[in-house]
Amino acid sequence: QVVNYAPFTLFPSAVPGALFEQAYAVQQDFNLLVDAISQNKEFLERTLASTIRVDDFTARLFKIYTQVLEEGLAQAVFLGINRSDYMFDRGVDGTPALKQIEINTIAASFGGLTSRTLAVHRHVLKALGKSEEASHLLPNNPSEGLALGIAKAWELYGSQSAVVMFLVEEVQRNIFDQRCIENELWNRNIRVIRKRDVFEKGSLDDARRLYMDGQEVAVVYYREGYVPKNYDSQNWEARLLLERSKAVKCPDIATQLAGTKKVQQELSRPGTLERLLPGHAESVARIRATFAGLYSLEEGDKMAATAIADPDWFVLKPQREGGGNNLYGEELRQVLEKIKDSPERTSYILMDKIKPQPSKNYLLRAHSPLKVSECISELGIFGVYVRQGKEMVMNKSAGHLLRTKAVEHADGGVAAGVAVLDTPYLV
Ligand code: ADP
Ligand code: MG
Repeated sequence: QVVNYAPFTLFPSAVPGALFEQAYAVQQDFNLLVDAISQNKEFLERTLASTIRVDDFTARLFKIYTQVLEEGLAQAVFLGINRSDYMFDRGVDGTPALKQIEINTIAASFGGLTSRTLAVHRHVLKALGKSEEASHLLPNNPSEGLALGIAKAWELYGSQSAVVMFLVEEVQRNIFDQRCIENELWNRNIRVIRKRDVFEKGSLDDARRLYMDGQEVAVVYYREGYVPKNYDSQNWEARLLLERSKAVKCPDIATQLAGTKKVQQELSRPGTLERLLPGHAESVARIRATFAGLYSLEEGDKMAATAIADPDWFVLKPQREGGGNNLYGEELRQVLEKIKDSPERTSYILMDKIKPQPSKNYLLRAHSPLKVSECISELGIFGVYVRQGKEMVMNKSAGHLLRTKAVEHADGGVAAGVAVLDTPYLV
């Protein structure tokens, strides 16, 4: 088969130090928030009600969510691994501000590979005779941080012989990213299996313990399951089986729903954060400071007209993950014109477009010519938390990811073939 190197920038990119620190400082707050949403049925139900009516994928996830709640949860330990992504918005006076793009609560990737990009960029700087600058690059090891969360959940599940199951796609373009985390688990004497055939091989016993091929599974770590194409009717059955089980799902279906774009938009409404995190005024303030303008397209909301008049200031987002789904510019205008009076509009959210200051770099990608590009970067912070019953037993940030792309691409991450791995150089 064919192996390519993961794409990366030749040089580290400048990142404002204060914003980098701000992103780290708010990560534990985001962990708390996602966890709180995942336990708030009333909020999820109300927020997703209109979306479910028009978006089949969200509806099917939601159906499993309610089915499992009706039966009563067997799962007692909860593990969240998320990545909150930001861009640096250039204000009118030129000062950059940290603005959240989205938070990924399922299959947030590149924590493994990015644990290696630091060494690449250190080497490049040294080769250029810049060892002083090389020594300024910050340590970063999300592989270890994410594995520590998985290991904690495995330990609390409480069965020495049980395994961690990575649930993976049929075509695994990003296997080495996953292997970095897997190896950290083997190093801690935790057995890992990589599977996708849960429908054929999975079963529950009377206590709803999950077995794969007769092996008990303590933790299910999803590296798929976030896009409709991951599901045929057997995979929907399998998802229900996994959710009903006692195994720690990372994420459980409630936490996946907490990461939808519709929930993100609802969080920006005045008073919502306060209701979700009562008694956490400082967390609420830190979280809100990172929000860009987010707008619903429900009845009575007037933003559609504004965006049609000025599409370059907005991004239109459907309830999809994985890059390449959002609409910009003329296309945004056309789609909005078409859907603005139909129920379909509620499956989208509208967001202010973030406009960072571009800088020059080389994007190295297999079989692509080497040329300098005008680039913008997106910073992601990994968060990991573990809850046992009602008690948070771990709540941490677990490292960062910097992805950089050429300005001519409005959308898309590394897996979508647009962005490349980078290392922040704090300025
Ligand atoms: P996905 O779930 O597909 O990753 P995102 O919300 O992260 O969806 O959007 C994909 C990409 O589109 C981002 O990585 C970013 O490059 C670009 N993008 C998304 N929202 C904005 C925004 N508000 N302003 C500018 N670019 C954006
Ligand atoms: Mg994204």
